[in-house]
Amino acid sequence: MEDVEKLIYKYALLNAVKHKGSAQSGAVVGVIMGSHPDLREEGKRIVKLSSEIVDEVNSLGLQKQKEELQKLGVQEKAPKKQEKTGLSDLPNVGDQVVLRFAPNPSGPLHIGHARAAILNQEYVKRYDGKLILRVEDTDPRRVDPDAYQMIPEDLKWLGVEWQEEYIQSDRMEIYHKYARELIELGKAYMCTCPGDEFKKLKDHSKSCPCRDMALKDNLGLWNRMPDMDEGEAVLRVKTDLNHKNPAIRDWVAMRIVNAEHPRIGGKFRVYPMMNFAVAVDDHLLGITHVLRGKDHLANSEKQKYLYQHFGWTVPEFIHYGRLKMEDIALSTSKARKGIDEGEYAGWDDPRLGTIRAIARRGIMSEAIKNLMLEIGVKIADSTVSWKKIYGLNRKLLEEVANRYFAVLNPQEVVIEGLPEPLKGTVKRLKHPDFPDRGYRELPFDGTVYLDEKDIKDNQNKVLRLMDAINIYLGEEVTYHSSSLEEARKEKARIVHWVPASSNSSVELVMPDATRKNGFIELAANELKVDDLVQLERVGFARLDSYEYGKLTFYYAHK
Ligand SMILES: [Zn+2]
Repeated sequence: MEDVEKLIYKYALLNAVKHKGSAQSGAVVGVIMGSHPDLREEGKRIVKLSSEIVDEVNSLGLQKQKEELQKLGVQEKAPKKQEKTGLSDLPNVGDQVVLRFAPNPSGPLHIGHARAAILNQEYVKRYDGKLILRVEDTDPRRVDPDAYQMIPEDLKWLGVEWQEEYIQSDRMEIYHKYARELIELGKAYMCTCPGDEFKKLKDHSKSCPCRDMALKDNLGLWNRMPDMDEGEAVLRVKTDLNHKNPAIRDWVAMRIVNAEHPRIGGKFRVYPMMNFAVAVDDHLLGITHVLRGKDHLANSEKQKYLYQHFGWTVPEFIHYGRLKMEDIALSTSKARKGIDEGEYAGWDDPRLGTIRAIARRGIMSEAIKNLMLEIGVKIADSTVSWKKIYGLNRKLLEEVANRYFAVLNPQEVVIEGLPEPLKGTVKRLKHPDFPDRGYRELPFDGTVYLDEKDIKDNQNKVLRLMDAINIYLGEEVTYHSSSLEEARKEKARIVHWVPASSNSSVELVMPDATRKNGFIELAANELKVDDLVQLERVGFARLDSYEYGKLTFYYAHK
């Protein structure tokens, strides 16, 4: 047996033992091509040999296969250990875990939201719990009507599933009912002090005159609140005026807003503040664990007073560190401004850190999920960068993406002196590790498009056109030789190419929104929108649109 055959024999045995005695030729070829890139040029022969050897191995039966492996001194691989994630267990888990993801509808989700969504989802899976999607839209001025649709779309792309859905603007009567109840309990009061005067008192741990108003007067003011002007009065929750954090002292529960709500119009003028609506909902919806960033520590503290006043059980609050996004996410308000001013094409502009922009560029949701699980819920701050995301995505794309030749900045080259017999068809595996996926065929007649840069960088040198021939770039471009060995001897750079006579136009939208144009091999016409590919020597990309003879891709990364 020659070395290659021995190699195939070994991998065929391993594959057979792994699959109850029955090896798959495609899988064997895949492993060999992956671990021995030097054999890729012999793809055809390897495929043929593997098929023969796999038949032979499969005829041995499992017991004999194991003996053969032992003879070769090969150890079966132990099953992979489950990957460790940064996700520690939840504290105090009872009968059912109920979690919620609660975004503001101020725009679509961005990568920062993905963390909360994915972590909640993972815990729901771990504890067979329930996930609630709650859209928190009680600030009429910060509502983007499109967000009600974009948020569920983004979550679906992330693979997050929820069992119940609530929109807070549907629940206004509930907040009003509990606000009134809180007044009746003597735990909240209407405050008509100008904001700066209240602040002065509060900062000195002093109560304002409203705090000790009779219940009757308090309720009277509360009833009149919808007819008052914005800022004329607020409803305050009694906390501790000596609390070390002044922000927590008698915080505002309800306020007047003079603005139409994009969803419920002018039906209400008295709106709950975030902390009030959140605590009421978390209680009523039976939320057992609240995952939130540590920038919400003071909010958790505020909310605990409500639980105390109403006699409710406090859910477990779990705070995690900040996610610093180097070079990634622009704030939603800055992105919106850029869109309004025409600087960005929309929420999926490749320069933005929104989920839809990331998706459009060919980042897989699984890469985002892996990133968030890796970061987990630790209290220390974490940093993410594009580089980090690209690394995780590349791991996934390397398997998924089939390969094609596309030449951006193309320059036509006519090869002089090409021997007639070398004209014909070049066959190349769509993916060297997965021969089952088949071949692409590129007609080769001596006239090709090469990348301008490849030509410029290799003047007076030999250049190898992948899987075809070697050329010399002199004053004119001439045929040099055909074998890979020859190319190696000349230390020739190996470059991709596109037949000049047979191709489609290609446009590549870069992460900075600039566009590159060129030609792509004809086999790419079989692609469908959303397919992820590797443009050889260019990088990974996602097919964004397709019209006859023209393909537009969004570039992901190298
Ligand atoms: Zn007051």
